[in-house]
Amino acid sequence: MAEARPVPEVDRAAAARKAVERRRARASLKRDLTTRVVTPQKVLAKAVADADSVEGSMRITDFLLALPAIGAGKRDRILDELGISPVKRLGGLGVRQRVALSRWLDGRFPVLEPRGARSRLLVLAGPTAVGKGTVAAHIREHNPEIHLSVSATTRPPRPGEIDGVHYYFVDDAEFDRLIADDELLEYAVVHNRSRYGTPRAPIDAALAAGKTVLLEIDLQGARQVRKAEPSATLIFLLPPTWDELVQRLVGRGTEGAEERARRLRTAKVELAAQNEFDHLIVNEDVAAAAAEVVELSSSSAR
Ligand code: 5GP
Repeated sequence: MAEARPVPEVDRAAAARKAVERRRARASLKRDLTTRVVTPQKVLAKAVADADSVEGSMRITDFLLALPAIGAGKRDRILDELGISPVKRLGGLGVRQRVALSRWLDGRFPVLEPRGARSRLLVLAGPTAVGKGTVAAHIREHNPEIHLSVSATTRPPRPGEIDGVHYYFVDDAEFDRLIADDELLEYAVVHNRSRYGTPRAPIDAALAAGKTVLLEIDLQGARQVRKAEPSATLIFLLPPTWDELVQRLVGRGTEGAEERARRLRTAKVELAAQNEFDHLIVNEDVAAAAAEVVELSSSSAR
């Protein structure tokens, strides 16, 4: 009789590699939950759809702990309240447990109803380095039917930037005048450096002409537009993962540890603002993200 053959080295190495990959994917998912790159509702939906997925194999205890502002004590109370055993994995919840968890998530992390067809004024914002500018540039090039607002700024032009196309480059005195004459829909100091603002008149004219208007501005500006024009549609651009954003923010490694830490702290605060927005778009691919923005503009123009 043939002897049982030992598992070949290659298989063992492949299995070990797979286990490491899975651990990494789980750790990355936890970070995405903590930093709110994904909503817990989306993770639960994926876990339910595929129990063998990274989401499905996540322990309920790890899932809850990864959510903002939930510590071990609170986690245990929640599990008790929902009647879920701490050994359960997300993909292995019973129907009643799933429904209870999903209701609890909706109460604690409300997902805003999209306002859809209410406005032709779109605002594109998101965390630093997520690629808003690149998405807006793509739309400028491919969708001339959309009026892309040209901001005024006090920062000097970069090589290749054209006055009146990329920005209106103005000095401090002129920016003060724009504010004093109420010519800006919103304005803010960005990155503690220069001032940026959205000229009001071209937007009013474009809207009056029946065009869709897109503003690519920072978070402070987006909040001001929300106040001034409550019907505006606010779009938040998300990185595909938290790790990807970190790469884009500090990837070149040219900054010191302190600057790196400061940027990451800022990114976390910025990501937390996504709940204030009507639509979330993931910038995995620039053309696809731009197409989603354009799609929103056509549905809101109806
Ligand atoms: P940059 O100087 O790299 O072109 O832009 C820096 C930041 O300023 C970007 O986050 C951009 O979204 C923001 N920004 C550009 N124009 C405006 C504006 O008119 N208002 C506000 N609030 N932010 C702007």
